[in-house]
Amino acid sequence: MPDGGSHYPALVLNADFRPLSYFPLSVWSWQDAVKAVFMDRVSVLSEYDTEVRSPSVSMRLPSVIALKEYIPAARRPAFTRFNVFLRDRFECQYCGGSFPTQELTFDHVIPRSRGGRTTWENVVTACSCCNLKKGNRLPRECQMFPRQPPRQPTSWELQENGRAFPPNYLHESWRDYLYWDSELEG
Ligand SMILES: [Zn+2]
Repeated sequence: MPDGGSHYPALVLNADFRPLSYFPLSVWSWQDAVKAVFMDRVSVLSEYDTEVRSPSVSMRLPSVIALKEYIPAARRPAFTRFNVFLRDRFECQYCGGSFPTQELTFDHVIPRSRGGRTTWENVVTACSCCNLKKGNRLPRECQMFPRQPPRQPTSWELQENGRAFPPNYLHESWRDYLYWDSELEG
């Protein structure tokens, strides 16, 4: 028996053979993947060399599985802090710098104190430095304008942006199903 659920994750593809989600990348533990195989909900496209055995069955652990039934993407993405960062590709919309998530903040283009609302159209990703610098001023008062006018992204756009951020773990059998932007640059 392989140890721990974190080993041998299976990449989960939608019925169209594209990842169910790019970011975070859709992966299941081997336990969930094996369960789905037995429930006939997925097809196995690739396997690890490692086997699991029970008294009656033995099977190689799936490394890539595809759902048999297509799951449509939610049409309107949730307005969350994470999705705002993803829309803005984790780049400060004022200085253009890339930062780890914990150094990014949520900036109201029109400050709340000046009547700005917390919506897709008025919130952008900003580094703490720019956020502090901008303070409670309007863009024209401090000449700080977001690089992209903020708006509600589509789920498709978020998925596309997510492709630019490869996960830490990549099994070689996954590469055929993932087309990271970084590979295109080479
Ligand atoms: Zn900045």
